[in-house]
Amino acid sequence: MAQWGYTGETGPAHWCDNFPDAKGQRQSPIDIVTKDAKVDAALGPLKLTPARCADVVNNGKTVQVNIDSSETNMCGGPLKHNYRFAQFHFHWGSKDGQGSEHTVDGKPYDAELHLVHWNTDVFKAVGEALPKDQGLAVLTAFIKVGKENSAWNKLVALLTNVKCKNDKFSIQEAFDALSLLPENKSDYWTYEGSLTTPPCYESARFIIYREPVEVSAEQMSALRGLLSYCKGETPCCNASDNLSDNYRPVMPLNGRVVTASFQA
Ligand SMILES: [Zn+2]
Repeated sequence: MAQWGYTGETGPAHWCDNFPDAKGQRQSPIDIVTKDAKVDAALGPLKLTPARCADVVNNGKTVQVNIDSSETNMCGGPLKHNYRFAQFHFHWGSKDGQGSEHTVDGKPYDAELHLVHWNTDVFKAVGEALPKDQGLAVLTAFIKVGKENSAWNKLVALLTNVKCKNDKFSIQEAFDALSLLPENKSDYWTYEGSLTTPPCYESARFIIYREPVEVSAEQMSALRGLLSYCKGETPCCNASDNLSDNYRPVMPLNGRVVTASFQA
């Protein structure tokens, strides 16, 4: 796979040179214009089932927790199929006021959590689902700096094991990814989009919770303290030492409809 990043010659504006889907018509993220969202009050909350967290990896672009599941973890709401939890990861800023991928009425949050699920009704493996329409469903939560979040303490402890790129840590103590989600799971927006990183396949339905999750400044700094280079390596002169600002700018809506499960 070709090199890509978030700044300069390999930044988002150049992704389409090597990854043609990046200039498609249903790209993510988007700005959610709340007054334009189409209300569907019949949309109920998703049915979510916890899954086992297997390991956590710093891949130099984000920190990702891989899930070990052999059952349905997400269905209902706007989904027509059963989805299995594959992994979750984060996008965040180097400072407050930036970091989320989606924005709401033009306003970014400080970070964004993506829980990536794949369609087991139609596909046999996550790799098969990845590029295909209805292949993925990404449950998304906004994160903002505010009060401390007790569920995040376990996550922050895990992050200390994957400071550098390519660090991987096997998770022994039970960790419930669903504890990272907001309390209000009834109010969300949903639309048809894409992977927000190359190869930007147009395969993902996003389900984005309206209520952001609050974490303390100290908890947020655990993400900002991760490094984008390998242990013992000197960071490249034009790369930031710290792993942050790993968000893609918003993409055009191109006539797509964003549906809201709630009346604003
Ligand atoms: Zn993501």
